[in-house]
Amino acid sequence: MEFATRAIHAGQEPDPTTGATVTPLYLTSVFTYDEIGKTKGYDYGRHGNPTRTAFETCLASLEGANHALAFSSGMAAIDAAIRLLKPGDHLLLAEDIYGGTFRLVEEITRPAGIEATYADASDPGVFADAIRPNTRLVWIETPTNPLVRLADIAAISDLAHTRGALVAVDNTFATPYFQNPLALGADIVMHSTTKYLGGHSDVVGGALVVNDGGLRDRLYLTSRVAGAIPGPFDCWLTLRGLKTLAVRMREHERNATAIAKWLESHPAVERVHYPGLESHPQHTLAKRQMSGFGGMLAVDLRGGGEAAAKVLNSVKVFTLTGSLGGVESIISYPAQMSHIALAAEERYRRGISDGVLRLSVGIEDEKDLISDLDQALPVAV
Ligand code: PLP
Repeated sequence: MEFATRAIHAGQEPDPTTGATVTPLYLTSVFTYDEIGKTKGYDYGRHGNPTRTAFETCLASLEGANHALAFSSGMAAIDAAIRLLKPGDHLLLAEDIYGGTFRLVEEITRPAGIEATYADASDPGVFADAIRPNTRLVWIETPTNPLVRLADIAAISDLAHTRGALVAVDNTFATPYFQNPLALGADIVMHSTTKYLGGHSDVVGGALVVNDGGLRDRLYLTSRVAGAIPGPFDCWLTLRGLKTLAVRMREHERNATAIAKWLESHPAVERVHYPGLESHPQHTLAKRQMSGFGGMLAVDLRGGGEAAAKVLNSVKVFTLTGSLGGVESIISYPAQMSHIALAAEERYRRGISDGVLRLSVGIEDEKDLISDLDQALPVAV
């Protein structure tokens, strides 16, 4: 079946006991045994819940995978994946990763005795040179935050596998609608389901998706024993979000493309970063490894920090906040929000100038979004 059909039906058969068409919200932490040693597949809410199973089954299907595991947040999912490593192992990460991942590695993973280094993942050869004999896991994110740069998943997976390392891809920006890293050779896909998968900015969650049964069991052990599981209502909300993922992603992309093109010709704009534009340095790679370009873009303003502040303080339809992937359009300021922890020189080195704004383009009417940006952008610089 095709993606949009699986989003609505995978894991969501009518409830066997009542015939309820929509997956019920099983608000229970305990499940009664039939007799000692015999259950109906569930015993305790930390170990599993039918609403969670429905969500995991649907997400696995959307990634074209065998298994998905839901977590209480994207960070809990990343933490569970990194717990595959033991002291003395090496973790190689792309330089361009979500700030929270960087913080987790620096403040929790490294003090636990795991080696961690970062390298530029935009060139697979250069990135693979940073693999060491004890590298067990390679962590990449594509497209990246905020400049929507790409990493070549297939090339990196090939190189990492010849060196004995697993490859994990944070697929939050692209979603399974536009990119399936496992089909390109990766071993683990991670999602902050808080973003597009939930899609309505009303629930926090995360997930890991894998094909290998042994890997699934190791990750499930962490979920079951460490316990960073989502509650049934979080799973129910996110599953409801998944039903409309295909429709929403098409609209996010349509609006983002229109806005990216409009911004490219605006006199106050130095540069637009969007993988769907021919001016994007990795447009060819985007066409090869993604089936669409998503709803995230960044814009570099000619007037630097002052121009950025004008836009941020003038928008009326775009919401000024830090997250992304909801139906509403969101504008954020990497220099003082997601990337505030980076020293200015390091931030500039990564191309994130004081004039860079990040847009998570929602699914409002394109005309209203463009006129909002039009009234907010400086007239001339
Ligand atoms: N990965 C990416 C790309 C993100 O943008 C985020 C959150 O913004 C995370 C991971 C962490 O997810 P969560 O906030 O659900 O813990």
